[in-house]
Amino acid sequence: MRDAFEYDVAIVGGGPAGSSTALHLVRREGIRPARVVVLDKARFPRDKPCAGAVSQLGLDVLSAVGVAVTVPSAVMKGVRVLLGDVAGETVEPMGVVVRRTEFDAELLETARRDGVHVRDGEGLRAIRRADGRRAGFTLETSLGQEVRARFVAAADGAGSTTRKLLGVREPDRKGHLYVLDTERRGTDVGIDRGLVDFDLSILADGLEGYYWDFPTMLDGRLQVSRGIYHANLTRPDAPSGESVKDVLARALARRGIDIAKVRLRPFSTRPFVPRSTGWVKGVVLVGEAYGIDQTTGEGIAQAIEMGRVAAAHLAGALASGNPRFEAYEREVRTSTTGRHLLQSAWMARRVYAPLGQPARRFLVRSERARAAAIRWYRGERLSTATQLRLGLGLAASLFA
Ligand SMILES: Cc1cc2nc3c(=O)[nH]c(=O)nc-3n(C[C@H](O)[C@H](O)[C@H](O)COP(=O)(O)OP(=O)(O)OC[C@H]3O[C@@H](n4cnc5c(N)ncnc54)[C@H](O)[C@@H]3O)c2cc1C
Repeated sequence: MRDAFEYDVAIVGGGPAGSSTALHLVRREGIRPARVVVLDKARFPRDKPCAGAVSQLGLDVLSAVGVAVTVPSAVMKGVRVLLGDVAGETVEPMGVVVRRTEFDAELLETARRDGVHVRDGEGLRAIRRADGRRAGFTLETSLGQEVRARFVAAADGAGSTTRKLLGVREPDRKGHLYVLDTERRGTDVGIDRGLVDFDLSILADGLEGYYWDFPTMLDGRLQVSRGIYHANLTRPDAPSGESVKDVLARALARRGIDIAKVRLRPFSTRPFVPRSTGWVKGVVLVGEAYGIDQTTGEGIAQAIEMGRVAAAHLAGALASGNPRFEAYEREVRTSTTGRHLLQSAWMARRVYAPLGQPARRFLVRSERARAAAIRWYRGERLSTATQLRLGLGLAASLFA
C-alpha cells in the first residue's frame, strides 16, 4: 500500500524550513532519500529578500546533522541597541549574517546530494486528498505533473500556497518589512566591529518594531543590510504600508542615504502566535508557513529547528500511519524555538506598546539586559535567577 505513493513525504518549499525537514528526514530519521521530494516554484539559487541574520541556534541544529555553513558570512559579534541619542552596546557572539541566495541554495543542494528528489522550478498549484481512509495526497505542479505522497510538509513561507489551498486561516495580522543593501558609510560605527544595530527610535514615529543595520558579505566585501520591521500589531493608530516607508526614509536620511536612490520592495511576515495552527490532517506546517518571531520578524533559525521537529513527527506518522499531528504542534510549542516564539509574541505587544518605553530604556541602558537578550536570541534558556534580576532591574528603571 505504501508504494501506491511515489513519495513518503512531499515538502513544498525549499527554503531553510524545507531543506531542514528533508535533511532531518534523511540524516536523523533514516527515511530513504528517494522517498522524499522537495518542490519549489523558484529555480535555485533564487533571490530571497532578507537581512540574513541566522541565530546560533539554527547553526547548532544544522551542525548536529553534519551540515556546516560554508557560504560567505559576517559574524555577528554583538549588538548595539539605539534609542534617540543613546546607544547601548554588548559584545557577545550571536550567530552569522548570510546572503540568503547562497545560504538557501547550499542547504537545498546538500539535500539533493543526499539523494532527496529536489524539483526546483516546479511549484505547487493544486492539492487533492487521496480517497479512502488512508492519508495521502496528489499534488499538481506548475509543470502539469502529478506528485503522490503520503504526507505533506508545507514549508512554502509567508505566502504559503499550501495554507491557502487547504484553507488554513491566518491567526494574526502580518508584519511589514523593507530591506536594502548599501556600501558602508561613516555613520556605520558598529559594522566594522561586526555589531548589529537595532534602532528603536522609530517607535517615536508610531511604529511597532525597529530599524536595522547589519554587516553583510556582498560581492566579497563587507557591506550593510538595512531595513525596517513593523510588527503591525492591532493598534488602530499605528502606521502601515506607505507610512512605514516614510519612517524608513527618515531613518535612512539620518544615515545620509536618500531613499529615492535605492531600490525597495515591501514584504510581509506571518507571526507565530498562541492561536497559530501547526497541522491539518496529513500535513505539517513548517517555518514561516507556520509562523515566525513577532518581536524581531526573524525566522531562519526557527524554520531550521521546526524542520527538525517536523521530520521526527513525519517519520513517526510514516511508521504508525496516523495522519494527525497534534503531537507535532505540542512539541513545536515546547521546543526551544516554540518557547522563544511564544515569548516573542507576548513581548511584542508589551515592548512595542507606548507603555513599553521603560522596557526599551532598560534594554538600552542595561548591559545585563542586553547580554540576556543575546542569550535568548541564541536560543538559550534564561535561568530563574536571571529572569528575577531582569524583573528587578526593569522595576527599578520605572522609577529612574
Ligand atoms: C525583508 C526581510 C528581512 C528578513 N530578515 C531576517 C533576518 O535577518 N533573520 C531571520 O532569521 N529572518 C529574517 N526574515 C524572515 C525570514 O526570511 C523567514 O523567516 C525565512 O525565510 C523562513 O524560512 P522558510 O523556509 O519558512 O520560508 P522561505 O525562506 O520563504 O522559503 C519558502 C520557499 O517556498 C517556495 N514556494 C512558495 N510558494 C510555493 C509553491 N506554490 N510551490 C512550491 N514552492 C513554493 C519559495 O520559492 C521559497 O523558496 C526576513 C524576512 C524579510 C521579508
